[in-house]
This record gives sequence, C-alpha cells and structure tokens, in this order.
Amino acid sequence: MRRKLVILAGSMVFLAAAVLLLVLYINRTGRKASEGVDSSIHVVTSFYPVYVLTINMTDGISDIKVDSLTDFSRGCLHDYRLTTNDMRLLSDADVFVINGGGMEEYLQDVMDGYPNLKIINLGEGIDMLESKLHEGEKNPHVWLDPQLYMVQIENARKGLTDFIGNFKGKRGGGRNIDEEDKDRIIDKINSNAEAYTARVRELSDEMDNLLDTVKGKAESNKISAKVVVFHDSFAYLAGKAGLETAYAVEIDEDTPLSAGEVAEIINAVRQDNIRFLFTEEQYDDNIANRISEETGAQIYIIDSAVTGDAEKDSYLKAMRKNIDTLKGAFEEP
Ligand SMILES: [Zn+2]
Repeated sequence: MRRKLVILAGSMVFLAAAVLLLVLYINRTGRKASEGVDSSIHVVTSFYPVYVLTINMTDGISDIKVDSLTDFSRGCLHDYRLTTNDMRLLSDADVFVINGGGMEEYLQDVMDGYPNLKIINLGEGIDMLESKLHEGEKNPHVWLDPQLYMVQIENARKGLTDFIGNFKGKRGGGRNIDEEDKDRIIDKINSNAEAYTARVRELSDEMDNLLDTVKGKAESNKISAKVVVFHDSFAYLAGKAGLETAYAVEIDEDTPLSAGEVAEIINAVRQDNIRFLFTEEQYDDNIANRISEETGAQIYIIDSAVTGDAEKDSYLKAMRKNIDTLKGAFEEP
C-alpha cells in the first residue's frame, strides 16, 4: 500500500514538472517567435500589429531576427510600463520599431536608456484623429485604416532599408554583413513591402465597397449611422464605413464606470436611436451587455488586430473578419 502511494506521489511530481515545463515553453514561444535563430540584425517591435507588419517586411531574410517586446496576448499598450525583461531585450536590439502617436508612452525611457538605438516610427507623417477618450491626445490606432496602414508599411520599408544601408556591424558581436549582403537584404525588403502593400490595397478596396454598402443600407433601412464604441481603435474603421462614433466608452479595470455614466450612455443610445455597440473580445462586456439589454442596441465584436497567433496574415484575416461583421450588422432588418 505504502509502495503504491510512493509510486503515485512520484508520478504526480513528474506530471507537475512536465506541466510546468510545458507552460514555460508556451510562455517563451508566445513572447519571442525567433528563439534560436542566429541572425546579424536584431529588430524589436513594440507590440502586436507592429510585429505582424515587420515580419512581413523581413520575410525570408535569415540575417534579421524580429522579436516582440510584449506578449501576443497583451493587446494595446495603453498605460504599459517597461519591465526589466523588456529593457534586457532592448539592450541587445539594433532597431526598435514603434507605432508612434503616443502608443508607446514609455518611449522617452527607451531613448534615455539606449541613445544609440535606431527607432523606426511607423506613425511618422500620418495625420492622426483626435482621441475621443483622452482630450488633447492623438488616436494612435491608425493600422485599422488600410490606407494609413500602407503608409506604415512604407515607413517600415524606408526605415529598415536606410538602417541596413548604413549598418556598420553588430554592437554585441555576431556574424557581420558585407556590402553584398546589404544589397540582397534591401532588395528583399523592397519586394516584401511591395507584395504586402498589394495585399493590403486589395483589402482597402474591399473596405471601400463595404463603405458604399453600409451607407446604402443605412439610408434605405433608415438606420442611424451612429455607433457606440468601447475602444478608441474603432474610430478609424467606423470612419471608413461612414459610421459616426456617437459615444466612446473607456473600459478600465481599475476605475469601473459609475451608475451615472452608464445611465448617460443609455440615454444617448435611446436619444440617437443607436443600433450598434462595437466592442472587442478582450474586454469585459458587462457594460455593453447592460446597455444592449436596456436599449435593444446590438453588440458586435470587432477585432482590433492587437492580439492573435502572430502569423504573417493575421492583420489581413482580422480585417476581413471585421468587414464581415460590419456587413452582417447592416444587413439585418
Ligand atoms: Zn488601443
């Protein structure tokens, strides 16, 4: 009996250790996609959409290793603070690619800590919308407008090829790249950018068609084109579809909405005859549910393309899903 118990306890310990190892493995692969690649140039990206864009630029180039600073399940960077691990990852980086527009609130810390780190700002030259949630701030969620996303691709292409062209060798050792390598890498980045832009342009055309459909449906069914959104990110998508953001509700785990605030939203929804509430999977939907129950407005789940499987096509897939969601919303009687 005792012997059996010892064997049982032993197996339990073994099982626990195996589970722990598996969890550690999944965590590692969730954060870094390029573990074990021996590359000369180390690119770190600030968060998910920037990572997805960048791996499309560097596809098929083994000389470049791309890592994401944040986990692929983290979502947007609002209020994000750098960790010691982040600073360690950046200490080995040659290039840091950011979204810009204030998404990376910690940027000054990075520039102070690593004054020689090359920073590529994908938001450069983009005229961003004003934030509906934070007065006086920009709305940095520009990737949700495919037209602006194409500007981000061009910013990445230019930033990366400029950097490679001037590359003087690795700070922390590793194989160096010569002039011939540089030409090959730059050519590949240029052709990757062209191919990815073509696919995004296709998506952009689909969205323009959607815009016409949604406008037409809204007019013929006499549906209000006003919507309530639960994340600033939706403003760009709504604008593309001819929808007007009547109300932006900030969902913050630390400071839940007061009863008065919820009542105010419910009143606004009734007054403007708003039919659509656009929320996101990663947010707690209690408030959206309450507003929906009290007003009859429908909830639709939008994908802001800030989390996912980190596949190259993940942005395109998320956006096509959004097109379907919007079509579905306006096709209902
Ligand atoms: Zn956001």
